[in-house]
Amino acid sequence: MHAALLPPISGAMVFYSQFDDYTAWRDAMQARLPDLRVVHGDEAHDPADIHYALVWKAPPGFFDRMKNLRLIVNLGAGVDSLVGREDLPADVPITRITDPNMARMMAGYVLFAALRYARDIPYFEAAQRRGEWAYRHPRSPETVRVAVLGLGELGACAARELSRQGLTVLGWSRSPRRIEGIECHAGMASLDTVLSRADILVVMLPLTPETHGLLDRERLLRLPRGAALINVARGALVDQAALTDLLRSGHLGGATLDVFEREPLPPGDPLWAMENVLITPHLASVAIPASAAEQIADNVLRVSQGLPPVNRVDAARGY
Ligand code: NDP
Repeated sequence: MHAALLPPISGAMVFYSQFDDYTAWRDAMQARLPDLRVVHGDEAHDPADIHYALVWKAPPGFFDRMKNLRLIVNLGAGVDSLVGREDLPADVPITRITDPNMARMMAGYVLFAALRYARDIPYFEAAQRRGEWAYRHPRSPETVRVAVLGLGELGACAARELSRQGLTVLGWSRSPRRIEGIECHAGMASLDTVLSRADILVVMLPLTPETHGLLDRERLLRLPRGAALINVARGALVDQAALTDLLRSGHLGGATLDVFEREPLPPGDPLWAMENVLITPHLASVAIPASAAEQIADNVLRVSQGLPPVNRVDAARGY
């Protein structure tokens, strides 16, 4: 809608994130909604004046006294740190960002990590450190099986990109999905079969009461010997102590980890020193103001007119 035709917006939006750029988000929001007042959570503000919140990992008690809050926008896809908080006013809708650019950025990370294993790059990295010309004939892509756990906004996009590379891709979700080129499975009963066929396992599930600790020692042992694990979802989905043991024992050949049970990963954690582990500090994908502000502005407008927001999170389901 043209800015001049926009209905007036009451109340202000509060922003909080230790990782995202406040000015970029404020400017992106005000470019779409010039009347919207935006304040940073650390600035002095009247909690009763806050109608909208745009947040990532706000500290405990952040929402206390925001009794007029009408919409919480999670500055990302994973809402596990928001759902179930005790300082939220009852019935306030929580929405997540679903942004094709965020999905593409995530798919890029997953593609890089999976192809690194499919092309045996860690083997060549180790050979280079030894100064050795160690020829190993490339595997043909369809002989490498990649299982993607979670076929949502991000998982389905990554699975398609992996399939476009000619890899054999299996997908797993809660409800049945149909994605061209992907062998889709659904439900707990099929998980062990999917795991037993994965040369590379990509974890792209939300963290919920059902998925917490899903990849325990027993399930990790279902993976074929030498399999690689890529976790870009949440650390608590995987038993990190078991993962460390199995990487040490060689049952798992390698891991690319963007997320951990505790973040930052504490200094001295054995994972830091393991040659078969690649660590990145939780940045596989981020929300981009230029592309995501539009949907947030639409939701602010919808809510200000008494309409339900889109991309609402199902708090009972946890995602
Ligand atoms: P979605 O909510 O769009 O999709 C979740 C997928 O997981 C769906 O396919 C869903 O099944 C499946 N799922 C959920 N619960 C279960 C279960 N119990 N058993 C089997 N499958 C289940 O999530 P996104 O794709 O947008 O994001 C996935 C996660 O990625 C986020 O929750 C977040 O934690 C993480 N993330 C990490 C980032 C990073 O930088 N490292 C950045 C952004 C997100 P169904 O299709 O049946 O609903």
